[in-house]
Amino acid sequence: MINAVLNFFFPPKCPFCKGILTDKVPVCNNCLADLPYLPENSCSICSIPLEEYSHPVCAHCRNEKIYFEHSFVPLIYKGKARERAISLKSGHPYYAKGFAYLLADKILSSQYYTEFDCVTFVPQSPKGKFERGYNQAELIAKSLAKLLKVPCVSMLKRTNDGKDQHTLSAAERKQNVRKCYFPKNKKGSGTVLLIDDIYTTGATANYCSFLLRKMGFNRVYLAIGLIRADD
Ligand SMILES: [Zn+2]
Ligand SMILES: [Zn+2]
Repeated sequence: MINAVLNFFFPPKCPFCKGILTDKVPVCNNCLADLPYLPENSCSICSIPLEEYSHPVCAHCRNEKIYFEHSFVPLIYKGKARERAISLKSGHPYYAKGFAYLLADKILSSQYYTEFDCVTFVPQSPKGKFERGYNQAELIAKSLAKLLKVPCVSMLKRTNDGKDQHTLSAAERKQNVRKCYFPKNKKGSGTVLLIDDIYTTGATANYCSFLLRKMGFNRVYLAIGLIRADD
């Protein structure tokens, strides 16, 4: 069923390598075989890969207040997946469809799958969106919303204040997000799926989840293309 839906929305080219697709899967077999997938032994909340025989929830998720239920993540940030994520941010918005397909596949086959009332995304600052021309998280969210057949709604905004998260330490990131992200003047209810492209410390995703809960959503789930993990 999902393949019929996917064939309708995806062009007959692989969204990762642009090679022509020969069978009905919307990402080519070469790319599917070449991607670094999340290992099974991952945190049951944030999906960070865990040591063997460790607690099923990572130390970070045990020690912090976490505002989302579970994070669906198909890929580790390395190799081909890392290259594609960098391309997605630097002038190749086409790759968003590939990540949306992998996310839909991950979500629909997950034991944590639940029905979502809407999909939303981590916003970009007006300055960032002007410079790049698009928000890659929004592009993934729109593609994914079509695949899951739920509406994509912009719920949050980012100001030009605060610093770029990637220039900061983990502690600084937690402070910085409070200056960057704000709710739009909207109310939510039910279950929302929040999309971002890359999960690093989780400060942005957790703070945006907190804002969505404050806006009235009962449950927040994350769908993130890639997670950074130490080798
Ligand atoms: Zn391919
Ligand atoms: Zn965790």
